[in-house]
Amino acid sequence: TEIPSLPLNNGTSVPQLGYGVFKVPPEQTRELVLTALEAGYRHIDTAQMYRNERGVGEAIAAAGLPRDELFVTTKLNNAFHEHDAALEAFDRSLEELGLDHVDLFLIHWPLPAVGRFVEAWGALEELYRSGRARAIGTSNFQPQHLRRILAEGTVVPAVNQVEIHPWFGNEEVRAFDAEHDIVTEAWSPLGRGRVLEDPTLARIATDHDRTPAQVVLRWHVQRGDVVFPKSATPSRIRENLEIFDFELSGEDMAAITGLDRDERIGSHPDHMN
Ligand code: NAD
Repeated sequence: TEIPSLPLNNGTSVPQLGYGVFKVPPEQTRELVLTALEAGYRHIDTAQMYRNERGVGEAIAAAGLPRDELFVTTKLNNAFHEHDAALEAFDRSLEELGLDHVDLFLIHWPLPAVGRFVEAWGALEELYRSGRARAIGTSNFQPQHLRRILAEGTVVPAVNQVEIHPWFGNEEVRAFDAEHDIVTEAWSPLGRGRVLEDPTLARIATDHDRTPAQVVLRWHVQRGDVVFPKSATPSRIRENLEIFDFELSGEDMAAITGLDRDERIGSHPDHMN
């Protein structure tokens, strides 16, 4: 499978499909990430919060792929928005991952009640200028948070990673990102698996001789978003990769978009502390 890449606003690019490792247990991470890399994934989405960066790094080392063929993302944990704490946390991430740079470093949550995300962004800008983070971005940022970064920062985020799936289209954030040349990454693209029982998805999947998971992932990529579904099952890890050799019609796309119930599965960015 050839996985397309999307250009980022800083001249780099991101593979549109990756493997996400939220809730992949640390002791299984090496083996599952290696399974993903062997299946053809080249983009891994981890975070300091997931406590499995070490396993990701071990899999990368074991796979022996050229570093420039891999795209590795990690995220700043919530306790480290203070400038020096952010830099120190980043150093620990590189050490855990066994890498000299990451391809993307994100602020995991804006934590508006803490009120230090602009300070954290300053630290990310330094990491970007040093080359140790090839691109920097945000996660769970609402338009009002991004407006502050755009006004007070000097680097425009390359991506904004937010919750998006058929029950929660998050259109307002997607539109804001698009307007500012920020690529949207869809987290929990399968709604943690909960959306997959929907009869509309079952019908479209049957029509295309695919699974509901493949149809949902295809919907995301046709909308232009980046996805990194998580699975701890090797057959599903491979299945989730097979989405670039079929196409959903405009009618299919509209039917899936129409499943929106404005229902988040994860936390609201304003309420996460
Ligand atoms: P997801 O939407 O990727 O769903 C994963 C679940 O869907 C699996 O546990 C499994 O139950 C099911 N599933 C996966 N493939 C399937 C298949 N082919 N057939 C049937 N069921 C299948 O949920 P997620 O893990 O929450 O999100 C994906 C990634 O997004 C995470 O691993 C993480 O990298 C990222 N994420 C980021 C944030 C953030 O705050 N930035 C939050 C949540 C997730």
